Order: sequence, then structure tokens, then C-alpha cells
Amino acid sequence: MTSTLAPAKIASLIEEIYQEHKHLADGDLASYIPELGNVDPRGFAISVTTVDGQIVTAGDQDRLFTIQSISKPFVFGLALETHGLDHVRSRVNVEPTGEAFHSMIRLDESSKRPPNPLVNSGAIAMTSLIKGGSPAAGQTSLKHMYELYTGRVLDMDAAVYESEKATGHRNRAIAHLMLHFGMVEPQIEETVDLYFRQCSFNVNASDLSTMAATLANKGVNPLTGNRAIAEPYVKSLLTLMLTCGLYTYAGEWAFNVGLPAKSGVSGGILAAVPGKMGIGVYSPLVDKQGNSVRGVRVFKDLERALNLHIFN
Ligand code: GLN
Repeated sequence: MTSTLAPAKIASLIEEIYQEHKHLADGDLASYIPELGNVDPRGFAISVTTVDGQIVTAGDQDRLFTIQSISKPFVFGLALETHGLDHVRSRVNVEPTGEAFHSMIRLDESSKRPPNPLVNSGAIAMTSLIKGGSPAAGQTSLKHMYELYTGRVLDMDAAVYESEKATGHRNRAIAHLMLHFGMVEPQIEETVDLYFRQCSFNVNASDLSTMAATLANKGVNPLTGNRAIAEPYVKSLLTLMLTCGLYTYAGEWAFNVGLPAKSGVSGGILAAVPGKMGIGVYSPLVDKQGNSVRGVRVFKDLERALNLHIFN
């Protein structure tokens, strides 16, 4: 395929794929965060943003959902911009785990670093590098960063945030273990609080496709023309998204879909097609690995139809 693939052609393709999977109801809501158990399981949207700034969508384009783990590569990017590669790498490894996103961590034997920034341990280590002095100030930095990627003002879902804050003890335990090894700053409760806030920003499917398109466009948001991240870091994010973006499905994903991507338990998946487009899919019923069931199927269909695999 070429970068000049007509938006009208993409629009009819994603509408066709949307119709094909519209009635699929496999998977479950991620109710371990109680508030996520209350969302409408039927929500379904597909969005594509091209690197020349066109958006095409199918389905519930206006439906908002919390960004959850899709935040992780972007917060990793902010940590890189704030502290530079060497300092960030002293706090996190870049190895895929083959383990669930929230698994109790195996820190690196000698360095004690968490495995990578896209599982909870590594993500919390990255959140602890976000400057602010308080969760509210950190939230402002994150909001600014997200909005550079979306080109749109975002809000936080207070109910989801409170729900995770009230129940997220596993993440607190992970943070405490990392504190023991000096991998996070000492203000554990503030860091975990900010991590829950970072996961609770509301986005829609087009926000996801535009965030991905910004990465596909070397860090410049194709809608606004504003740079969201310095170009040399874009490849760092995309590499981790390709190797670690879908947890225990990351190998299958790289093999079958072959795009740098990130999923979240609320049902979003975004993927970047470098130099061409960003794709965002939302459907909240997730599989055992925490990936959207319809989301994965949509990406497989899109890859097949448009030859998107980066090694094609
Ligand atoms: N906030 C969620 C958690 O930490 C994010 C997990 C995810 O989306 N995979 O459990």
C-alpha cells in the first residue's frame, strides 16, 4: 500500500470491518477495576488518522473510555524528554516479559530494574519520574503531554480514578517492592496516585488514532502541526510497542499484525503505521490477556486488507 491510499477507500474498508464484527460479544469487561465493570459492553469504534491529517471513523466515534495502559508508552516518552535516555534506562529495562501486565514483578537479577515500561512495574517506575511535586501537578504535566498527541482537550474520569485508587493494592505492592530496590522515588503513595490518574484520562477512538498517527509522523501531530515528542525518541517508543505492547500476546501480535501498538484493559488498542497512519479501535470486552477481542480481530483484518505489517 502507499501513503496516498484514499481516505474514502479506508472509510469503506473500516465500515465493512465494523459491520462484520458488530455483533461479536466474546470477552469480558475488566471488572477488577470495579468501575470498568459498569461500561456498556456493546461500545465499538474504529478510527484512522492519516499522516496528512485526515480522520475516518466507523461506529461509536463519540464514546469515551479511559486510556488505561495505552498511557504507558507516552509517559515513557515524557520521562525520556524530561530526564534523557541514560537516566531513564537506569530505572527500566527493555525486555518483553511473556507475563501478564500486572504480574508481581521479576526485577532484573543484578540491576533490579523492572522489565520494560509497558508492564505495570516499569510503567510505575516511569510515572515516578514525572515531575510535579504532587499528583495534581503531575496530572497537569500529563494532560499537557496527552493533548499534544490528541490535539484536543481531555478530562479525567473521576469515578474510574477513585475506583482504581480504592482497589489498586497490587500496584501499590509492586511500587513498594521497587522502592525497596531504589527503582522509584520514595513518595510511593503520590506516585501510585499519579499512575491511577494517568490511566483515567478519557479518550475516544479518534484520539487513539491521532496519538498513533503522531508517532507514525515522527512525533508531529498531523492535525495541529505541533510536535508532541522529540523525533529521536519516537523509535524508542515504537520499538517497545512492537515488542511489548500487547503483553503475553506481544509475539503473536508482532507475527500476525506486525505494527507497533499498545492495548489497555478498558478495551482500546492503538497502532502506528510508520509514515502512513495511526489506527485506534475501541471495544471493551477483553480476552484473558487483557486485550480487546474485537480490537485484535479488526487489526488482523486491516493488516490483511492493506498489507500493513512493517516487514511487508
Ligand atoms: N490501570 C490499569 C492497571 O494498572 C491498567 C492496566 C491495563 O490497561 N492493562 O491495572
